[in-house]
Amino acid sequence: MNFYTDNKDLQFQLQHPLMRKIVELKENNFADDGKYDYAPANTDDALDSYDRVLEVIGDICANVIAPNAEDVDHEGPQVIDGRVKYAAGTQQNHEALTQAGVYGLSLPREYGGLNFSMVPYVIAAELVSRADAGFANIWGLQDCAETIHEFATQEIKDRFLPRINKGDTCSMDLTEPDAGSDLQAVMLKATWDEPDGVWRLNGVKRFITNGDAQIKLVLARSEEGSTDGRGLSCFVYDKNDGGVTVRRIENKLGIKGSPTCELLFNNAPALLVGDRKLGLIKYVMSLMNGARLGTGAQSIGLSEAAFREALKYAHERVQFGKAIVDFPAVYEMLGVIKARLQASRALLYETARFVDVYKAYNLLTEERKLTPEERAEQKEFQKQADLFTPLVKLFASEYANQNAYDALQIHGGSGFMKDYPVERLYRDARILTIYEGTSQLQVVAAIRGVSTGAYLNKIRIYEKEPVKAEHEHLRKILIAMTDQYEQTVQSVLAKADKEYTDFHARRLVEMAGHIIMGYLLLLDSQNSDDFIRSAAIYITRSQAWNTERHAFIAAFEIDHLSAYSVMKDTREA
Ligand SMILES: Cc1cc2nc3c(=O)[nH]c(=O)nc-3n(C[C@H](O)[C@H](O)[C@H](O)COP(=O)(O)OP(=O)(O)OC[C@H]3O[C@@H](n4cnc5c(N)ncnc54)[C@H](O)[C@@H]3O)c2cc1C
Repeated sequence: MNFYTDNKDLQFQLQHPLMRKIVELKENNFADDGKYDYAPANTDDALDSYDRVLEVIGDICANVIAPNAEDVDHEGPQVIDGRVKYAAGTQQNHEALTQAGVYGLSLPREYGGLNFSMVPYVIAAELVSRADAGFANIWGLQDCAETIHEFATQEIKDRFLPRINKGDTCSMDLTEPDAGSDLQAVMLKATWDEPDGVWRLNGVKRFITNGDAQIKLVLARSEEGSTDGRGLSCFVYDKNDGGVTVRRIENKLGIKGSPTCELLFNNAPALLVGDRKLGLIKYVMSLMNGARLGTGAQSIGLSEAAFREALKYAHERVQFGKAIVDFPAVYEMLGVIKARLQASRALLYETARFVDVYKAYNLLTEERKLTPEERAEQKEFQKQADLFTPLVKLFASEYANQNAYDALQIHGGSGFMKDYPVERLYRDARILTIYEGTSQLQVVAAIRGVSTGAYLNKIRIYEKEPVKAEHEHLRKILIAMTDQYEQTVQSVLAKADKEYTDFHARRLVEMAGHIIMGYLLLLDSQNSDDFIRSAAIYITRSQAWNTERHAFIAAFEIDHLSAYSVMKDTREA
């Protein structure tokens, strides 16, 4: 078994026409060729190396991580003398990936990385998550390396980055008891220790995944007397320096193999990343954007696992003299799971490509001045990436939950038992809409794209792409949905009432997302027959979902103030 080679949808992503450009930008004229024996000499060579490394990861996922998942879920990590001890299977998974050299995938070769672009990195994240979504956190926290690479000094980079590839893990220490969604409220204190020439961190962090990691990025208040995000800075901490203890690990619903820690910082020495006061506004924002794509990949990997479990069971289980897969109620659920899976995947990789192009340009600016055309392209791709990232996190995580729910339903009573993996998938899925910014916070980020018309502009660009004559009917549905969306947005914005817009924000963001994903599936169907069934299911479903949202909003039109104040009254209950 191999989780990469058995999934044509992932291989399809590497063949996207933009991949050649991404590779060429990322490899900067293949400057590493000759310097490192494993560096590619040309584009085909680089794409081939993506493929080969993903095959290795797919093998480890199928034959080490997935078989360990049940025991890890059962055993979980422990805290012993203020330190975390992983479950035995977690340790084994970690060692297998370290030995394969696939930590630090996207880091430059000088730090022991493979200089992979975002697309193959995201594919790898999906593979690991399909095997065990809890373990995907430990592997995925290598995102922290990206932030160090992008913003820290050369000295910090040289000290920390080569360790990632050798197996040192990371954590991202943001949340505190009084600072969850609102990270501006972070209070962990950073003070400059003049004699020792380091910063000292004091305070408590909670809900920190892999909180006993060797390398930590910590958000802390460096500006005494400040109360908002402008007083926060970002620090890197080395476990070898001491000063942080794990007070407890949470006992939780799912992703049980992933230790969620409460931490006590006691004069812990740390180094500043980038500039003071930009901790939240710049570095953590960038870190979280990467991590949101990571959670998108984690969600889609879990959806893939849920779909496969449900399909297998539906073929095996016989009731009323036939396999349950032949009942319309069951095959419809399977069709919708697959459509949601492929739709959110299309959105994930479209976004990963946007990120790839602008980040590759960012790196190029360190080597040479960009041409005006290149600068314009860099800006445009960054805009698209920022626009799409909250949609990825919102939809992929919500769909993973819906998919796990339906997959469990297909298993009937057996799905409720621990005998089948779907029970774990259902529990593991639940966190996905909460961490890395709840679904509600993704809507807060995405509503700007609705009110500025940015989603609409992008949709109108997709609308102009050619489609085969036999797919024209699907495009017509999408055009009608776009007109309906445009009119609904206008009706809400016409009230010029921020609270009213916030009240309907999720509905509007979802309407835009459904149309965008409908187009992406339709456009992918022009290059492969593997997407057309999902395109048809998703687009017809989305038409109904959007019509429901449109009708709900229209019902408020008549007397909008009293209508939504009824909802507000629930607060008194
Ligand atoms: C298993 C697990 C692992 C985690 N790992 C990490 C980690 O590694 N590092 C880290 O720093 N943190 C981590 N977290 C913390 C996680 O990011 C937060 O739990 C999450 O951001 C939500 O914060 P909160 O729990 O304080 O909820 P709150 O912010 O209190 O939110 C409660 C509810 O209010 C809603 N809400 C809040 N503000 C708004 C708003 N403006 N508009 C609309 N609705 C709103 C939320 O959507 C939610 O429904 C983890 C959490 C868990 C459970």
